[in-house]
Amino acid sequence: MTKFVYDFAEGNKDLKDLLGGKGANLAEMTNLGLPVPPGFTITTEACRAYLDTGSEPPGLQREIGEHLAALEEKMGKRLGDPDGPLLVSVRSGAKFSMPGMMDTVLNIGLTDASVVGLGDDRFAWDSYRRLIQMFGKTVRGVPGEEFEHALEDLKHVRSTENDLDLDAADLRKLVGTFKGIYKSHTGEDFPQDPREQLAAAIHAVFDSWNSERAILYRRQERIPADLGTAVNICSMVFGNLGSDSGTGVAFTRDPGSGVRGVYGDYLVNAQGEDVVAGIRNTVPLQELAHIDKSSYDELMDIMSTLERHYRDLCDIEFTIERGKLWMLQTRVGKRTAAAAFVIATQLVDEGMIDLDEALHRVSGGQLAQLMFPRFDAETKAEKLGRGMNASPGAAVGKAVFDSYTAVKWSRSGEKVILVRRETNPDDLNGMIAAEGILTSRGGKTSHAAVVARGMGKTCVCGAEELDVDTKRRRLLAPGGIVIEEGDVISIDGSTGQVYRGSVPVVPSPVAEYFEGHTDLSDDLVRAVDRLMRHADTTRRLGVRANADTPEDAARARRYGAQGIGLCRTEHMFLGDRRQHVERLILADSDAEREEVLAGLLPLQREDFIGIFEAMDGLPVTVRLLDPPLHEFLPDITELSVRVALAEARGEKHENDLRLLQAVHKLHEQNPMLGLRGVRLGLVIPGLFTMQVRAIAEAAAARISAGGDPRAEIMIPLVGAVQELEAVRSDAETVLAQVADETGVVINALIGTMIELPRAALTAGQIAEAAQFFSFGTNDLTQTTWGFSRDDVEAAFFSAYLEKGIFGVSPFETLDRDGVGRLVRIAAEEGRKARPDLKLGVCGEHGGDPDSVHFFHEVGLDYVSCSPFRVPVARLEAGRAASEAAGSDSR
Ligand code: ADP
Ligand code: MG
Ligand code: MG
Repeated sequence: MTKFVYDFAEGNKDLKDLLGGKGANLAEMTNLGLPVPPGFTITTEACRAYLDTGSEPPGLQREIGEHLAALEEKMGKRLGDPDGPLLVSVRSGAKFSMPGMMDTVLNIGLTDASVVGLGDDRFAWDSYRRLIQMFGKTVRGVPGEEFEHALEDLKHVRSTENDLDLDAADLRKLVGTFKGIYKSHTGEDFPQDPREQLAAAIHAVFDSWNSERAILYRRQERIPADLGTAVNICSMVFGNLGSDSGTGVAFTRDPGSGVRGVYGDYLVNAQGEDVVAGIRNTVPLQELAHIDKSSYDELMDIMSTLERHYRDLCDIEFTIERGKLWMLQTRVGKRTAAAAFVIATQLVDEGMIDLDEALHRVSGGQLAQLMFPRFDAETKAEKLGRGMNASPGAAVGKAVFDSYTAVKWSRSGEKVILVRRETNPDDLNGMIAAEGILTSRGGKTSHAAVVARGMGKTCVCGAEELDVDTKRRRLLAPGGIVIEEGDVISIDGSTGQVYRGSVPVVPSPVAEYFEGHTDLSDDLVRAVDRLMRHADTTRRLGVRANADTPEDAARARRYGAQGIGLCRTEHMFLGDRRQHVERLILADSDAEREEVLAGLLPLQREDFIGIFEAMDGLPVTVRLLDPPLHEFLPDITELSVRVALAEARGEKHENDLRLLQAVHKLHEQNPMLGLRGVRLGLVIPGLFTMQVRAIAEAAAARISAGGDPRAEIMIPLVGAVQELEAVRSDAETVLAQVADETGVVINALIGTMIELPRAALTAGQIAEAAQFFSFGTNDLTQTTWGFSRDDVEAAFFSAYLEKGIFGVSPFETLDRDGVGRLVRIAAEEGRKARPDLKLGVCGEHGGDPDSVHFFHEVGLDYVSCSPFRVPVARLEAGRAASEAAGSDSR
């Protein structure tokens, strides 16, 4: 027979799944001998059974009855007894804390008869009116304002603001009024049977698991929807018995900064929920030392006991009843990212935890938050609207509505925010030029969001209440507010908030630390420094960066990158170089094509020399040209219009016409699955060999200049070993030629990306021809799931997230079961065929904490991510390694 009810003395802190966080910790405190009012906990399992079937599981009533009888015995009082009643609270408490999301009812057991037994005085009637109010609101859905208004009215009649001025007769009258409100909404009298009150409150707590706000909160916090809540029945203690009573909340350290000290609020003569409700002004906890010294001392003792026991920051709820202290709740407290780092290292210094454990007390997500500049939290700036917090940071600039303007204005020294309905690859230059990006459409995996995160650039996306009018170059906000091009706006990528005007920003000391300005007098910087060092000595995974320019490469190096895992070459064909690509495509003869390629060669060579220099001594993986050609060509509609206009005016337009024909010819329904990557290299003669030559010549030049370039040539989108073999043999010929010509030996590796399921499944064959694999997990995710990242976002991702088909987008966190399985297969079979095969990953997942842990487990050699994510990946790689070594995490 399943056991559904546990006495507080029967549980412990590790039973959160079953008893919820509150119940497990009440049990833990009970067993530590701390003063906890006796009680018992109904399990989450009972809740799940109730929610599944709509009724209590068999046996639950009996168990509750038995535990209640034992509680009555212990307290020497019976629930709702007219001669001195036992009262209880019925409190929700799920595995993960969901503050304020679910329900609690206090003072269960009060009735017309037992209120007299409680004392028939001010306190008794105050408790009774609270019960009717809370029970009415949470159990029977009576609108809470009605009770609040009635209380206000009464205070008004008594000409007071303070409910302490109401006397017993007033409150007795208020109980009458409350009962009337209750009856008019429910059609029933307020229940006078204590057992009936208890049962109804328990059901209400079960049901509150599925309240709208609880559902919403779980979705945001990624808490599984099927856990259910436990219910705690706890004998009441009273903070509302007079001036020697009260209630409070406290933290064992400052949850904002981590600083040690006494942090809390206390409210004299009040019951629990008053503190948070802000009904009366609380006093700082320190004052309790003057109000009730012995309770204060005891509380300080208990707080240090709890910290030593949980080895972490705790938060607590307590009540003092006539000078006697009672503990009502504790848990390991939530804290800001900064406090997490500071507290973790403090605890090491205090000998409570070791550095491995400290690493588990922080996360890459928190580190990322700490690296972004932020707005002054106190800002009074006018809010224009809100979108999704796609890429954190705080950006201020003049609104511009196209990339061209963004680039032009930023060249002349202006700071700009690029405002678009949505962005596409053509906006890249504008995005690079802008301080931040704001879009009115698209979600967290939209082009704007993904690219911005990759660049470490602030982005708010999908701000639907804002109307972006790119034609008239303005932005319409609710309330008729118009932002014209050039008006200053501020966007907060951590909250999604958009402001009018310039909100002051403060730089992050942690970002400055990674840039090399180490200020070890700052507690936070010191903590970050210490944990980063420990992560670096612990981790097995290497961390490289995705970088396409010498500047990015240099930054990546400052941030601790051990090489470049992905140097994309496509941007080297954009801008002024577009014309070369156009000519390449239009070329009629081999001679013409060769001429164009010869023109591109020195440009590419210079690109690589700069990057090799910035990464001297470290590996640089250069990916040969990957995207479909049409991305470099003019827009088909624009071009058609141009041709038609020229025709109508009888102007010369031969070149445009040829270009249009070429664009038509290259037009693909599914460009992502079309002529790109290695296919392009095999179809356009000379393209890849030109790139290989540029790499080889750059390497030779660096070696001659005394440098140490470590080139790795990477072939994209390979699906069959034959593709790789063909490209590889051409590449080797070029490498040998360049070696001959320059007299310099170039040791470049040749390898491939694994980004198609076929490549993963034939990895054993492919490894025969590849010296390294780099998993392109963005494409591998697209091709494994069969959906295109650019299209699914709008079409169905939000519905999938809502329905819980994904907990999180597979583009954000690697899908271990599907895509991850392919990675595992390819890694194993690749290594079997070639034991010294180097394995890395260069998709966005390389900087995602959860995915980094997976790549560690699979045994890859390194992850590669955007420069800004490098510290995050280093930290998470350290955590993954020490986790694997068996350190216990919370
Ligand atoms: P939440 O999870 O929202 O904090 P709680 O179940 O902790 O809800 O209870 C709400 C308030 O009532 C808290 O301030 C708590 O301390 C107080 N409270 C709960 N049970 C009791 C009790 N048995 N005696 C006195 N106060 C209580
Ligand atoms: Mg609480
Ligand atoms: Mg790819």
